Amino acid sequence: PDKTLPDILAETAAKIPDNVALKFYGREMTYKELLTFSTVFASSLQQSGVQKGDRAAIMLPNCPQYVVSYYGILKAGATVTQVNPMLLEQELIYLLKDSGAETIVVYEPLYPRIKAIAGETSLKNIIVVSFETDQPDLQEGDWSFTSFVGKGDGKLANVEINPQEDIAVLQYTGGTTGLSKGAMLTHRNILANAFQSHEFFKHDFVFGEERCLTVIPLFHVFAMSSAMNLSILTGSQNILLPRFDLQEVLDTIKREQPTTFPGVPTMYIAITNHPKAQEYGIDSIHLCNSGSAPMPVETMKEFEGKTGAKILEGYGLSEASPVTHCNPSFAARKPGSIGIGIPSTEYKVVDLATGENEVPAGEAGELIIRGPQVMKGYWNMPEETENALRDGWLYTGDIAKVDEDGYVFIVDRKKDMIISSGYNVYPRDIEEVLYEHPAVQEAVVIGIADPYRGESVKAIIVNKAGQEVTEDELIEWARGKMAAYKVPRAVEFRAELPKTNVGKILRRALREENR
Ligand code: ATP
Repeated sequence: PDKTLPDILAETAAKIPDNVALKFYGREMTYKELLTFSTVFASSLQQSGVQKGDRAAIMLPNCPQYVVSYYGILKAGATVTQVNPMLLEQELIYLLKDSGAETIVVYEPLYPRIKAIAGETSLKNIIVVSFETDQPDLQEGDWSFTSFVGKGDGKLANVEINPQEDIAVLQYTGGTTGLSKGAMLTHRNILANAFQSHEFFKHDFVFGEERCLTVIPLFHVFAMSSAMNLSILTGSQNILLPRFDLQEVLDTIKREQPTTFPGVPTMYIAITNHPKAQEYGIDSIHLCNSGSAPMPVETMKEFEGKTGAKILEGYGLSEASPVTHCNPSFAARKPGSIGIGIPSTEYKVVDLATGENEVPAGEAGELIIRGPQVMKGYWNMPEETENALRDGWLYTGDIAKVDEDGYVFIVDRKKDMIISSGYNVYPRDIEEVLYEHPAVQEAVVIGIADPYRGESVKAIIVNKAGQEVTEDELIEWARGKMAAYKVPRAVEFRAELPKTNVGKILRRALREENR
């Protein structure tokens, strides 16, 4: 309990120093090297005046420097602030000012964007990672990653870390639903989540033997825990890809034969729809985890039928470091469910309106969670914290049902619920039906203003390549399968849907466009 993740890295490096920790486009970094580099990075931070509790931001695609910086910052006792590389100037100013970060490690193509706004933030140390050269062209006072590491000697001033209290990571929520809030995750929170996940999947990991394919972005809390921290704990080789390119992902699977693959539903959808998905040896992966958004049951069936691999759907949120639930590999899986609580995680479903009183099995209510992975609160937002954390219980904002075996089914997010003619309509119910249509590749349902009903249901569809279906046919298809008030009144077809960097469908953007 008194350990931190850098301690775990040191333990793993002592056990398997020469095993490959990171693989990136054919280049390899061993555990011994990762430990050395991150320690040196920590000492460079200290030499630059970074002190315990200071915020240091990382704004990088997946790459070895990400992992080095992350453990380096933690080791120096500073707080990692993960920044989505897609953020534009206004969002960046908000995040950097809110966090008060004085240091940032940034990807070279994003350097101009940071320079343009740096004056409005507290940034002092700008460290630039280039994939092209060790000496990128920089303004005076800024550092290339290589020169920054070069100034450290690996000797660290002692910092006392209190894992229960000290903030390891400021994790800004993705903003799928709006305002981005900084979840304060302590050293204990993030360490606990790696241990809890490992305990849950202990039969699926042989220490030092696994290879994890990491294409979900590390700045997102799902990859941070399930790909990066879990790999360190299990001595796995982490194969990093900086972006989701379907062909590259499939080629990498064929070449590297990963054994674990944390992915998001849109990635599984893309793989399923590749005409030759079955030819890439995807069944070498014995643990395909899906999380961060609902996995359509139909896609899961298709993916498994085609590839022979098995998907275990789980669930989490930034505020819980993030994993709280997953379908087990040691007991029954239930498609459409997020599974059961991982070890040391308490959960219940309570009355939606009051937030009190557990509802009976099978009834919908708000999912609330308690456990060592639950955040300390939101940074600088005492009111939001009071709302989200009550008596140690995290209010997730997700509507769920629990069955008699304790399996949880997410009905929808509270904020995505549509109210049509006074009825509560859950987009997910309708989307599941639309996914069953043979021509549908992706489906999303939103509420649009309706003078009579308040809101009415609109579906936005991406067709499978070469398949056609009309608006009327889809509406007819839905009509036979759901109550009249749920049936979409309008269907729009698009070539693609707007997505977050993690691959979540951006409902907020679609709602705004349809206002
Ligand atoms: P914000 O909360 O700011 O809108 P976000 O959605 O990106 O942003 P995250 O913490 O990344 O925030 O996502 C957590 C949410 O993702 C959960 O509250 C839940 O709604 C959704 N989610 C995660 N896994 C699943 C799943 N398996 N099924 C359904 N929903 C899921």
